[in-house]
Amino acid sequence: MLKQTLKEWLDEGKERFGDDFTQWKFKCPACGHVNTGKEFKDLGIDLNSMYNECVGRHTGKGSPRKDDSSGCDWAAYGLFGTLGKGRIVLNEGKESEVFDFAE
Ligand SMILES: [Zn+2]
Repeated sequence: MLKQTLKEWLDEGKERFGDDFTQWKFKCPACGHVNTGKEFKDLGIDLNSMYNECVGRHTGKGSPRKDDSSGCDWAAYGLFGTLGKGRIVLNEGKESEVFDFAE
């Protein structure tokens, strides 16, 4: 998995989506849902959750189901991380696993 410093990760995100975090997008590794900052903002969810929690955790969804990308209860800080599909961000000596950016 790609490992980046917090700065490298933020720089890449800004390059992809711009400075407005509501435009940022991350893909849930379990169900394939694309979390968007706008979606999280509209639902009143902390934008800091969009890269490590599938929106389904906040909308009452359960385990990821095949052919359903409407959301699930996946979290990048859970036991199985991002299933090898995410990234690792290094910040102040601590590594955090996060969802990958979505196109
Ligand atoms: Zn999901």
